[in-house]
Amino acid sequence: MASVNEDFLNLENDYLFSIITNKKNEFEKNNPDKKVISLGIGDVSLPLVPVVIDAMKKATDEMAKKETFRGYGVVQGYEFLIEKILEVEYKKRGVELNKDEVFIASGSKGDLAGVAEIFSKSNRVALMDPVYPAYRDVNIMLGRNDIVYLKGTEENGFIPEIPKEHVDIIYLCSPNNPTGTVLTKEQLEFWVKYAKENNAVIFFDSVYEVFIDDENIPHSIYEIEGAKEVAVEFRSFSKLAGFTGVRCSFVVIPKELKLYTKSGEKVELNSLFKRRQSVKYGAAPYITQRAAEAVYSDEGQKEIRENIKYYKENAKFIKQELEKLGFIVYGGEHSPYIWLKTKNNMKSWDFFDKLLNEAGVVGTPGVGFGSAGEGFFRLTAFSSKEDTKEAINRIRNIFKK
Ligand code: PLP
Repeated sequence: MASVNEDFLNLENDYLFSIITNKKNEFEKNNPDKKVISLGIGDVSLPLVPVVIDAMKKATDEMAKKETFRGYGVVQGYEFLIEKILEVEYKKRGVELNKDEVFIASGSKGDLAGVAEIFSKSNRVALMDPVYPAYRDVNIMLGRNDIVYLKGTEENGFIPEIPKEHVDIIYLCSPNNPTGTVLTKEQLEFWVKYAKENNAVIFFDSVYEVFIDDENIPHSIYEIEGAKEVAVEFRSFSKLAGFTGVRCSFVVIPKELKLYTKSGEKVELNSLFKRRQSVKYGAAPYITQRAAEAVYSDEGQKEIRENIKYYKENAKFIKQELEKLGFIVYGGEHSPYIWLKTKNNMKSWDFFDKLLNEAGVVGTPGVGFGSAGEGFFRLTAFSSKEDTKEAINRIRNIFKK
């Protein structure tokens, strides 16, 4: 008898975004002439930049010729891309890493899940509340149910509160999804020190770092002294360069980072992850990695930053207009996410229904990210300028009354 891995049965019935999509589809079915605008799901809307397209075409041509065709790739990723990452993302910020500490893959989602597999089931996990739901679901799927939630509230500026009990794994996300807030150097220093003192490991998710505009806010946790011993860093080309459909990411696992066996021996996470990748992952496609490499050319940097500027202008516009309507708004500055407080203690899902039914605008209910998100609502800056303007006009019409 084929039996099920019952850890999967501990997952909540439906993923947040499926519920949203179902509600949106239902509304569209009942209102066929109303165009729904989505400021909900965090997917990009601008196409790939020309430098990336050229690189993909060139790589495709290489694949078409016997002399330059590539088969199975290198599990860790091609050196041409790893070298560019080390130079542009790290060296320029004063961070020295070795080539074998960077792993290229096909999206941070998979990387977050893959690294989590290497930790013992018995580890206690600390997640911020509100939180990007995949962190929780991955741990539940792995049978790691000892999860504590660190509340991020208006009062503490949406930074995770300090755990009351010992924790082994701490997820930090900066710029944060969903709250759009960022962790300062001092806050990161605190967490690195905390992790060291508690033999804990930080999963640092900075897939939105390209949105940071302030020189004093770290883009990488390795800008903090000692972080290499306690932190894994997750980065993605998804939001950096619009690769949500192309799929490319990298994860940094410094050699200094050690986990413990039951008998107290130290083992290198890096080599275990490499082993894991060689069994479970076939390497990111050559064409994709050439495309990612192009992001780091001077022209590539210029072009992707134009797109980021476009989204940032949307974010600024949304934030500013909502504030004019009297909303309290967080995020939207170093992030594509706008985290607004509903008025009159309205529940997140009621606010969702109001926006959908009265304005035909879709956002994401804050409570979907955890109980501390109740009464909040997330909008994203990833839509087109026109749709963003139209959505805000419609929201204005409801709330100016
Ligand atoms: N981490 C956070 C906080 C995200 O919001 C997302 C995607 O929205 C991811 C990771 C996954 O990104 P990727 O497209 O690289 O899988």
